[in-house]
Amino acid sequence: MSIISLSSGVQNNLSIMPRWPATQVLIDSLAWQKLQAVQASLPGHLGLILTRAYEPRVSELGRARTAFRRAGICLFGLLYRHRKEEIQDIFGSNGHDLDGTHIDVSFSINGQRVRLLPLSVFTPMSWQARRIKKFDEELSMVLAALLAQGFQLHRNATESLQIHCDLKPVL
Ligand SMILES: [Zn+2]
Repeated sequence: MSIISLSSGVQNNLSIMPRWPATQVLIDSLAWQKLQAVQASLPGHLGLILTRAYEPRVSELGRARTAFRRAGICLFGLLYRHRKEEIQDIFGSNGHDLDGTHIDVSFSINGQRVRLLPLSVFTPMSWQARRIKKFDEELSMVLAALLAQGFQLHRNATESLQIHCDLKPVL
């Protein structure tokens, strides 16, 4: 596995916006190639944004994520008592601590970043539904392009808006 380190900015037509407090994104080289193919297949007004990939557990960033996760689980449990069964899906590391094939992306329309989760994973389901409706066409195009290049989408609704996806291993 070879890992490529990308700092924020535009690289090969793709925007890199590391999620705070990260300052760079570490991604598997094949996943990076596939993302470029996804971008190339999208209409010109849609831009992919890579926000997160490999985050080694034993690192400052890994420790920060663990702390955020603990705090997040507490808050989520208080806000959404009826959604406790989603906690593992939403707050699990979802493979980000394993290798660089597990990524989060986002997209922009005419250079404007679309925020499907304005309050991150704490965005109420009703808001999520409204945003999905508003950006339905663009979101469908982005998701279809990711699937076509061999990415799998996350089964949890909130996490899939994050847009967390995993590159399917080549057998
Ligand atoms: Zn993710």
